[in-house]
Amino acid sequence: MSGAQAYRRTVLIAGGAGFIGSNLSRRLLAQGDRVICIDNLETGRSANIEGLIPNPGFAFFLHDIVEPFTVKGPVDRIYNLACPASPPKYQRDPVHTLKTSFIGALNLLAIAEKKNARILQSSTSEVYGDPDISPQPESYRGLVNTVGPRACYDEGKRATETLFYESHRQTHVDVRIARIFNTYGPRMDPEDGRVVSNFVVQALTGQPLTIYGEGEQTRSFCYIEDMLDGLTSLMEADELEPTIFDPMNLGNPHEFTMLELADLVLHLTGAKVKREFHPLPKDDPLQRRPDITRAKTLLGWEPKVPLHDGLIPTIEYFREEIDMAQQRIGG
Ligand code: NAD
Ligand code: UDP
Repeated sequence: MSGAQAYRRTVLIAGGAGFIGSNLSRRLLAQGDRVICIDNLETGRSANIEGLIPNPGFAFFLHDIVEPFTVKGPVDRIYNLACPASPPKYQRDPVHTLKTSFIGALNLLAIAEKKNARILQSSTSEVYGDPDISPQPESYRGLVNTVGPRACYDEGKRATETLFYESHRQTHVDVRIARIFNTYGPRMDPEDGRVVSNFVVQALTGQPLTIYGEGEQTRSFCYIEDMLDGLTSLMEADELEPTIFDPMNLGNPHEFTMLELADLVLHLTGAKVKREFHPLPKDDPLQRRPDITRAKTLLGWEPKVPLHDGLIPTIEYFREEIDMAQQRIGG
């Protein structure tokens, strides 16, 4: 096979070695796309893409999107998934997180304009901060602390939404903005620090589950396959729909407390470990649940996989990861 003509489209995925990006890479390759993955491996893992390297339709470039770059040949679609998503990871170098969000997106927008490609920005439910209404529709403007420990992520994503929106208005670049709510599934980093990976790894390794605060705060968890359906539907949605350029919530509207999540993980793993209470991190949102009316109406999309069902393959994945790590240590 030679040349780009053999492929349906050429898709650039920034952050393609991360959790969502590596799952998206697999999905698009299976659908006949050529995938160019750009990642600095800050939070992504080479293990996520190792299996893709022999595929002639997959190309990997180790690069930080904060630094300008060029891409040879045509590009039809760009997914910007590059940014650490776990609070302990994005707080490690907050200035770089802001640069990744804004300058990285600026560099990707320049490529989109040059190649006449459609570009999707992975924004976040964090643009709503610690919301005082529930569920959160896209029209809600949010309650965000500009100088709190989560601000580098929240404000970086908020500014980048503005950057995308204004770029569209000024240069007509074809943009999509997905406000992604908590997503989980296979290929999450076991050491990522987010709640699903923490609880499952703790349960499988016989450690107490670390519950922050009293565990009454809520999140709404979307299984990765549902999220991929949502992201690809938004990317391919008809640009004749005038509001398609506006931000769109993507997430599962079923809300759980962290205590409920802990109980479900204990039930599904059969682990007999304790729950251990730790202080609630500063500015940790107390509730989060998407209003997905817009996605339902414009894309005909809604999640299909309940938390219980999505946790089963996720637990299986973490079990295999832990077994492999133990085998490596055992020599
Ligand atoms: P992840 O940390 O697993 O993946 C992010 C990827 O981006 C990693 O491979 C990382 O190495 C790469 N990256 C980070 N900074 C980079 C840089 N400067 N240059 C090049 N590559 C860089 O996170 P994820 O869960 O896959 O999230 C993907 C995107 O979706 C992120 O933009 C995140 O903000 C957004 N999002 C995710 C969730 C979620 O629950 N998973 C929720 C809301 C938004
Ligand atoms: N959390 C928890 N124990 C953990 C990790 C997180 O109780 O080991 C809580 C955290 O305080 C938050 C929720 O789980 O209220 C979701 O945290 P996560 O880091 O997964 O995502 P985010 O806060 O960005 O939604």
